[in-house]
Amino acid sequence: MLESLQSQPCQPYSRYGEDVALDSACLFCRIILGEIPADIVLRNDNVVAFNDINPQAPTHVLIVPRLHVENAGELAQISPSITADLFSAAAEIAAQRALSGHRAVFNTGADAGQSVFHAHLHLLGGRALAWPPG
Ligand code: AMP
Ligand code: ZN
Repeated sequence: MLESLQSQPCQPYSRYGEDVALDSACLFCRIILGEIPADIVLRNDNVVAFNDINPQAPTHVLIVPRLHVENAGELAQISPSITADLFSAAAEIAAQRALSGHRAVFNTGADAGQSVFHAHLHLLGGRALAWPPG
């Protein structure tokens, strides 16, 4: 199942026009296109989810929109619907794994720890998570 998901490249997402299509210089766009391998756990018309390469919890999944936007705020302005799809995917994955709790996080800007400038929701779970975060 996962192997077939990983070997099935997406078509560029163009519903909103060229300004928000996939960017061939972006790591996560290249994962969406299947040009860079990733451990994909969910894919639908609007989002792709894959395991973080450097997991911070037993479940650490990145959920990304299938269009290139820099951060969550920009995504919300372009498409509230796709923003909601990211949270729906997080809930679906959390339910599949019967997580007793989970955290959904968007880092925005380098000072907040954002290192990849394609909006992505971190889904963390599978262990007790401390608050406040560092
Ligand atoms: P952020 O620091 O919020 O921008 O999150 C970027 C995340 O992407 C980090 O948690 C990285 O570990 C993760 N990451 C970087 N490269 C890859 C990759 N090739 N596959 C999966 N996750 C990655
Ligand atoms: Zn991108």
